[in-house]
Amino acid sequence: MKRLSFDDAMKMYDMEFFDLAELADAKRKSLHGKKTYFNSNRHINPTNVCKDVCKFCAYSASRKNPHQYTMEHEEILEIVKNAHARGITEVHIVSAHNPTAGLDWYMGAFKKIKAAYPDIHIKALTAAEVNFLAQQYDKSYDEILDMMIDSGVDSMPGGGAEIFDEKVRDYICKGKVTSDQWIEIHKKWHQRGKKSNVTMLFGHVENRAHRIDHMMRIRDLQDETGGFNCFIPLVYQTENNFLNVKEHITANEILRTMAMSRLVLDNVPNLKAYWVTSTVNLALISQEFGANDMDGTIEKESINSAAGANSANGVQFDEFVQLIKNSGFTPVERDSSYNELKVW
Ligand code: SF4
Repeated sequence: MKRLSFDDAMKMYDMEFFDLAELADAKRKSLHGKKTYFNSNRHINPTNVCKDVCKFCAYSASRKNPHQYTMEHEEILEIVKNAHARGITEVHIVSAHNPTAGLDWYMGAFKKIKAAYPDIHIKALTAAEVNFLAQQYDKSYDEILDMMIDSGVDSMPGGGAEIFDEKVRDYICKGKVTSDQWIEIHKKWHQRGKKSNVTMLFGHVENRAHRIDHMMRIRDLQDETGGFNCFIPLVYQTENNFLNVKEHITANEILRTMAMSRLVLDNVPNLKAYWVTSTVNLALISQEFGANDMDGTIEKESINSAAGANSANGVQFDEFVQLIKNSGFTPVERDSSYNELKVW
């Protein structure tokens, strides 16, 4: 299939539902067959104290979350120790923008984890956090990115991308990293030979055109660097925030968006159905609409569960494998770089 233009993609979004699924599935199969990847990971959100005020956020203590916390390094290490004993291969560390914790608090945690558990892949610091740290501590992006590498960070998560359209972005998260800054940070990270992911928050006040525009900007950077492992559409969670979107996006529109992601992003190898925001059932169905990755067991998650997602305690490993098998796909445990560890 030829590369889709913006107009092609807008037309295709409206196709008959199962015809669209078939196209996305064909693309998925050409890349991954029936394999669905997942990993055994632990999400850690070490602080919810934030200087920013994104309207959609239910996690930050400066928004609607009354439970403010900042973990000590010892607490973070204890979590990693226990998760490591259970066999996780990755820690996924994302925080709010805490202006008083200090740069050493952020970097020191990575250093200590790497020193104690060199085999664990550290995926940490979104581009929004990199931008915050650079501004807060008067550093360049290059300096922060080099510090991350020196401290043991292996890859960057895709958070903070939200929606790149400037008007929507201004409305939902004014003051946070801009779209151009987000792209610049990932470009610099990729130029260091490092990989990252990229997200898109949808189902709030944006429309289809904004989503396609978002995907096209990612596709352009990927053509240049090839540094994105995975695209992760995140379904907006409606509870406990100031955006006040009353109607939840429909399952039909979520699945169409998954399919369009697979078709527009012809150069990003993996498409993740992030069950935390879509529900496990819809993530499983997303496998028929182009998705080939189900993230992981997660174990514990604080950001989306604060906004109503049913993800606070993750999913058991065996159950996860069985769910993928029962849906007719082949569960493949992977590491953070998509090397296959075990076909179940
Ligand atoms: S989304 Fe992140 S940056 Fe925005 S208010 Fe919440 S924690 Fe802060």
